[in-house]
Amino acid sequence: MNFEFALNLAWWLLASCCLVSFIEHQVHAQLMHKRNFLSNRDKGFERVFKAHAIEHHGHYSAMFSDEPVTPGEDKEIRLNVHKAPIKTLPFTLVIALVSWQWALVFVAMVLVHHWVWNKIHLEMHKPEGRVFSTWGPYLFLARHHYLHHVHPNKNFNVVFPFADYVLGTNAKATASEKLDMHGLGLLPLSGTELRYLQHAVVKVPAGKN
Ligand SMILES: [Zn+2]
Ligand SMILES: [Zn+2]
Ligand SMILES: [Zn+2]
Repeated sequence: MNFEFALNLAWWLLASCCLVSFIEHQVHAQLMHKRNFLSNRDKGFERVFKAHAIEHHGHYSAMFSDEPVTPGEDKEIRLNVHKAPIKTLPFTLVIALVSWQWALVFVAMVLVHHWVWNKIHLEMHKPEGRVFSTWGPYLFLARHHYLHHVHPNKNFNVVFPFADYVLGTNAKATASEKLDMHGLGLLPLSGTELRYLQHAVVKVPAGKN
């Protein structure tokens, strides 16, 4: 592998990550959380909206996690990996006009995105102590998604939390939210940090965050 190819590959990977982050953000914000032109006319899009905004968020509004998943029943946690390349085909075609190698990297990134989404989203809502469940990056994503379920108009990224920060839709956790996440095992805290947060929550009356 020569140097020029390695440099190109790094660029294709980075550009694909960023693009997938923005697609994830917009699909989640515009199609999964809103009734729109498409969902008013097409049963498939209407089903995507209802499955996520009503079924998934309805089920996981009061609590963030429940019992391990039973086969065939996952409360709309998982995406269909096989359909991913079809859904993103328009993007792939435009990218292929620039570079077919980049288009291949993009398709691979979309598949990785869907595969990772399924693994981590399942562990978030139906914890089974999977190997990655104690890794820092996973805990960061789990906290990001926990706050999405508290504030459904924030934190639309699940796998690549980049677009939320660029577009200003990232939620900042309050002291009581930090304590809740700590209680779920998503936020490791030292004794000092824990007492500081408990103190902060006592001073702010409930419902004022
Ligand atoms: Zn969720
Ligand atoms: Zn959502
Ligand atoms: Zn909040």
